[in-house]
Amino acid sequence: MTTLLRSCLLVVVLLVGVSGLASAVDAVKPYPLKTCIVTGDDLDADATVKVYKGQEIKLCCKKCIKKFDADPEKYLKEIDEAVKKEQAGKK
Ligand SMILES: [Zn+2]
Repeated sequence: MTTLLRSCLLVVVLLVGVSGLASAVDAVKPYPLKTCIVTGDDLDADATVKVYKGQEIKLCCKKCIKKFDADPEKYLKEIDEAVKKEQAGKK
């Protein structure tokens, strides 16, 4: 009985450990584009990085942060679509 309890505890600890590790690894998705999602401009040294809902966002300038913050869901969708387009183009 004690052994069973111990192995149960071990499994729980392992599961928690693994899921904790996994969520730490994919906590932030890297920004997939080479351009600012707001203006479409290339990202250069002035580019700003922020994280929204676990997604890294790179914007070409501070003005774009304001625009992104005004409607983040819209820009997240645009990032998704841009990635899909890029993947479709590769095939
Ligand atoms: Zn900008």
